[in-house]
Amino acid sequence: MFLFSFYEKQSIELKNNIKQILLFFLYISFVFFSGYYFFKEFSFFYPITFLALLTPVFIFPGRVKLYVVLLFVFLYIPYFLNLSHFILFGDVINSSSLNAVFDSNLQETIGFIKHFFNLKILFLLLSFVSVFIFVLIKIKNIAYSQSIYKFNFAFLKICFICILFCLVKIFVSYDTNILLNGYRLFNEEKSVFKKIRNERIIQKFQNIQTISVDSDKTAKSETYVIVIGESVDRKHLGIYNYNRQTTPLLSKTDNVYAFDNVVSPNAQTLDSLTKALTFYDNVNFFQSKRSIINFFNDAGFKTFWISNQSFSGWGKAGLITLIARDAAKCGFINRFSWESLKSPYDEEMIPVLKKALADTSEKKIIFIHLMGSHGPYADRYPEKFNVFKNDSNWRTQTVAEYDNSILYTDYVLKKIIDELSQKKDMSYMLYFSDHGEDVYEDEKSTFAHADFIGTRHMYEIPFVLWISDAYKANRPDIVKDIEKFKNRPYSIQHLTNTIPELSNLESPDIDKTKSLFYEIKPSSVAKNINEIKNKIWLYRVNNKKRLLHYFDKYDGFQIDVNFNEDGSYFNVSPENISGNANLDEMFQNISGLKSKYFLLSFKNLSYGNKEKALHELERIADKHKLDKKHILIEASEIEYLNIFSEKGFYTSFLLSDYSYDKAHEYRNYIHDIEYDIEKLSKSKVSFVSSDAKFFMYVNFYFPSIPHLFYALDKNHQELTEYILKTDKKAAAVFVPDIRKFYE
Ligand SMILES: [Zn+2]
Repeated sequence: MFLFSFYEKQSIELKNNIKQILLFFLYISFVFFSGYYFFKEFSFFYPITFLALLTPVFIFPGRVKLYVVLLFVFLYIPYFLNLSHFILFGDVINSSSLNAVFDSNLQETIGFIKHFFNLKILFLLLSFVSVFIFVLIKIKNIAYSQSIYKFNFAFLKICFICILFCLVKIFVSYDTNILLNGYRLFNEEKSVFKKIRNERIIQKFQNIQTISVDSDKTAKSETYVIVIGESVDRKHLGIYNYNRQTTPLLSKTDNVYAFDNVVSPNAQTLDSLTKALTFYDNVNFFQSKRSIINFFNDAGFKTFWISNQSFSGWGKAGLITLIARDAAKCGFINRFSWESLKSPYDEEMIPVLKKALADTSEKKIIFIHLMGSHGPYADRYPEKFNVFKNDSNWRTQTVAEYDNSILYTDYVLKKIIDELSQKKDMSYMLYFSDHGEDVYEDEKSTFAHADFIGTRHMYEIPFVLWISDAYKANRPDIVKDIEKFKNRPYSIQHLTNTIPELSNLESPDIDKTKSLFYEIKPSSVAKNINEIKNKIWLYRVNNKKRLLHYFDKYDGFQIDVNFNEDGSYFNVSPENISGNANLDEMFQNISGLKSKYFLLSFKNLSYGNKEKALHELERIADKHKLDKKHILIEASEIEYLNIFSEKGFYTSFLLSDYSYDKAHEYRNYIHDIEYDIEKLSKSKVSFVSSDAKFFMYVNFYFPSIPHLFYALDKNHQELTEYILKTDKKAAAVFVPDIRKFYE
């Protein structure tokens, strides 16, 4: 009887206990499995963690209600926050959102928190709280009155130790814990930001002046918008004659100017934009020189930064964010972690733009950072813009998706222009991409962008300017010549020298010569050019036979020479090798030599041979009665040419090869040009020479020195004609044997 009642009691107790444990099991399951399944891939540790969470019920059977409360605080609330974040922004809480809450101004924090006042979220909260209250009321302590459970205790102790070990492992490895991981990244970024900020030298931009405008026409307010695109290859825009009309709206908007020769300095966002947005000086882009945002703050503008890119930036240090945060107002709408490459659609920034435009400040500049065409392309536009389709293979399908993203950007840009037009302010919108993108340009091409695999498509970017009617009326200085600048080769590395001028500002801190709109005044053509009668000269006359054959047909000849140091004479040969011909012998017994011009391409000019070579050249000139002004010495070693200039010879600096067949050369060609300009400024040479294919650059960047060109390509006849007609500074063009053309 006693035994029976014992077992009966036990079985009732067991039944009760099972009920309690089951209730508890459901209480944890409600958030646990769904939660982890939602956020991360399933891991072996999750069920073990789950068991671990169950264990305290057995160990402290008398404290079950307290445990329910604790779990609500430490499991339910974090999960509620994560889930509502996921519902609102499509991603779990990450450093971007933590930044928005903890590390920004109050207004942004409130703005962020306001999102949570939403029916779905309220419903979620209600269901969480109801489950909690229901369980709290229903659950009872678990009874362990008999020794039969002692076995359970021993067993549980072992389990508990194992499970505790697993639990610690999970929580120590941040990657498996979303909240902790987000917090760790947030802290890391914060300390990087802090370090950079502390190292900065805060120097105000001084003496910023307004460029004079016609006061009768002055609009009351100035509102300027800079739109930074993402991963756009110029070639894919309809406005640049792409075979698909990807920019139908921009193409038919008035006062839109598409500049077709602009490149980015790098193929990656961070590298390119830190250069474009700061007063970059190659060494210390941010600490010593400040950003364009600082410039406008100091100029009395109200500055805004609206972004659809991740707050934490691409990579650990969000340097773009660091620049952005100097703006008076920031609006980051993207709450995805940067690794996920997800984003809301760009048009979701329009309401934020509207708010900025409604601000009553008289002078405003608004930067808008698009997600643009960042891969995966198909994620960047709503279904409505899924216009171009070509799924014949995955490559063409990817190109079609890319083109759709451009089509969508066109729509967003038009919306921005529409908002601006309504304001009737003096305003412009400047759109450019941070870098280009290679979308399967050839069979071998790996698509996307990176400097180490860089192709020209990764650097050739769109650069589009829209101006308002009031702007047009106020800035005739810009508008008058704008067509002229549309083909100017330009790198956005110098953008901080263009944006102020475009925004009606000037300052001693701005290098005007690096502005896109810097006008090169046509300087007078050097007198000596008139001495050269015929500007088409024969290329590579490296033996006497050839010289005699063409002697009457050309006025000038290009000859390759090497200086032989042992014998102190000039070898005539194309390479740095000893040829048969000797320059002195070549000039022997030719009547009429005096009337001709000779360009000597000095292939091995060096510090060691320059004086001996000069001496020998003077001897030859003397012997053959040649005018020193009829001899031009050309070399790429500009520093050794000065002594020839000083002795009365003409000299020519052979410019670098600005060819961009290879990616890295292409990236650097603007840099090469600048380097050459600098070298030239310190020398006494009389000409620059270059391959004719760089005619446009040479014409633009070396406006005050006569040019010599090598036109050796297939199309050399047209090119020669074109150069001689358009370039007043062209002194001579060297061509291969082209008697047909010449006669
Ligand atoms: Zn980018």
